[in-house]
Amino acid sequence: ARPETTEPELAEPHLRAVLDTAGLAVEYVRAQDNTLFWLDEDGTEIAVTDFAGGYGSVLLGHNRPEIVERARELLASGTPVHAQFSSHPYANRLAAELNRIVGRELDTDEPYFAIFGNSGAEAVEAAIKHAEMDRGMRLAALREELARHTASVRAAVAAGEAKVTSRALAGAGLDATAPGGDFETLAAELERHNAELFARPPLFLSLEGGFHGKLAASVQLTHNEGYRAPFKALAAQARFVPRERPEALKEIWAEERGTLRDVRVFEGRVEVTEREFPAFCAFLVEPIQGEGGIHVLSEEFAAEIQRFCASIGCPVIVDEIQSGMGRTGALLASAQIGLRGDYYTLAKTLGGGIAKTSVMLVRQAWYREEFEIVHSSTFAKDSFSCHIALKVLELLEADGGAAYRRAAERGDALRRTLESVAADFPGVVKEVRGRGLMLGVEFHDQSGSASPALREAAAGGLFGYVLAGHLLHRHAIRTFPTASALNTLRFEPSLLLSDAEIARLDGGLRDVCAIMRDAAGERLAAG
Ligand code: PMP
Repeated sequence: ARPETTEPELAEPHLRAVLDTAGLAVEYVRAQDNTLFWLDEDGTEIAVTDFAGGYGSVLLGHNRPEIVERARELLASGTPVHAQFSSHPYANRLAAELNRIVGRELDTDEPYFAIFGNSGAEAVEAAIKHAEMDRGMRLAALREELARHTASVRAAVAAGEAKVTSRALAGAGLDATAPGGDFETLAAELERHNAELFARPPLFLSLEGGFHGKLAASVQLTHNEGYRAPFKALAAQARFVPRERPEALKEIWAEERGTLRDVRVFEGRVEVTEREFPAFCAFLVEPIQGEGGIHVLSEEFAAEIQRFCASIGCPVIVDEIQSGMGRTGALLASAQIGLRGDYYTLAKTLGGGIAKTSVMLVRQAWYREEFEIVHSSTFAKDSFSCHIALKVLELLEADGGAAYRRAAERGDALRRTLESVAADFPGVVKEVRGRGLMLGVEFHDQSGSASPALREAAAGGLFGYVLAGHLLHRHAIRTFPTASALNTLRFEPSLLLSDAEIARLDGGLRDVCAIMRDAAGERLAAG
C-alpha cells in the first residue's frame, strides 16, 4: 500500500501499482543477513526471510558486517573514489585475484584481462563490443590478405605466368563459356561476392531462455520477446539456439555461414578457393539460466557448444552474472560442468551487496588491447568498488574456501526440502532445478484450474507474483518468479540461510501447493 503523501508519484508508478495487485509493493526499511524488514500500517517492522537475495547480489548476506566495515574504512580514509585515467593498483590487484581463482578452477595459467563496469548488463555490453571489435579487426586482416592475393595473381597473369581457366570462372559462379573470361572479370566478381559478406551486420548466438541484460545491445541477446522486440532495430541480432539440441547448432550454422572467395596461382592456373567468413560474433551462454527459469546446462551440451565454437572460430562468452561468485560452490559455475569461456562476465555479488560493479574477463588469446582506449565509464574501476570486491573475494576464499562449501551444503539442504515438497505434491510441482544456492521450483500451469483466482492469475501473466505475494504476507518469505518463466519461483538466498528459515519455506510452499491442489484460490492472501 502506498503511504499517505502529497508528493506526486513519478518513479515508476505503474510498476508499483502492478506489484501492488499481488501485495508486493511493500517498503523495505532495513536489511541484515538473510532478512529484510518492512513496515506495516502501524509502523511495526515485519521481518521477512529473503529467498530473492537481491536476485543474486547478496550471497554473503545483506549488509555483511565485514563488508560494511571495509566500506566505512574506505570512506573514512578518503579513498579517491573517482580518479579516472590514472594508475589503479587496486583494480590490478582485483584482476590478479580473479585470475588466481579462475586459473585454479579452470586449471590454466593463461591470463584473462579485466575490463570493469558498473552493472551486469554493462559487462555484457563490454563483451559484445570487444567481440565485435575483434571480429572487425579479423575481417580487416582477411580483407587485406584477399586484396594481396588478388594483386599477386593479377601480376602473375600480366606476366604470362598464369591463366584464367573455365574452372576458375565456375569457382566464382561465373558462366565459364561466356566470352570475356579474363582476370579482371573474375576479380570484379570475387570482389562483389566478398563485399556482400563483409557488409553483413554482426550476428550473435544465444540460448533460448537466455537472459543477458536489458541495455540496447544486451537485450537483443536476451530471449524474452517482451523485453527484446520493441528495441530490435537498435542493435545486432542473435539466433536463439534451443536448449540441449546439438543438431540445432549445425542447422543454424548452415543457414548463416558464408564463404569468402580467394584466388591463388597453382601450377600456372588461377584457382578460386573458399575461406570461411566469421559470421558469428560470439556465443553467449549461462551455465545455469537464471531469469529463464533456473535451467542447468548439461555437461554434454556445454561440450557440444565448446566444440562447435572452436570449429568455427567463434568466441564463447560465459555469462556468470547470476550463477557465479560462489553461489554454486565455486567462483564459476561453468567450471563445474567443464565449460571454458573465452570471455566471462561477473557482477551482482562481486559488489558485496553494497557496491555496483561488474567485470568482463577476456582470455589472452582473444584480447585486443585497443579496446582499452575506446571503452570506459565515469564510474567503472573506481577505488571503492574495487576494494569492496577484493573484500568479497577474501571472504569467499577464507579458510580454504569455506564459503563455497557452505553455499554448496546450504544449497543441498534447501534442495532436499524443495524435493520433499515436490514429492508430496506431484500434481502441482512440475520440477525442482538448479545447483547450490541457485534453485527453482516450477509449478504446473494453472490456467485450467477450477479456481477462478488461480485461473485469472495464470492467464494474466502474474501467476508467480500472486504466489510470491501470498508467501510474503502469510509466511514472511520473499521470493519471486524468474523474469521470463513465471511458473518458476526462484530461491537464491544468502549462504547464511539457517535450518529454521528452510523449515519456514517448507511450510509456506506446502501451503501454496495445497491451495493449487485444492483449487482454493480464495485462500490466497491476494485472492
Ligand atoms: N546476465 C545475467 C545472467 C543476469 O542474471 C542478469 C541480471 N538478472 C544480467 C545479465 C543483467 O545484470 P544487471 O541487472 O546488473 O544489468
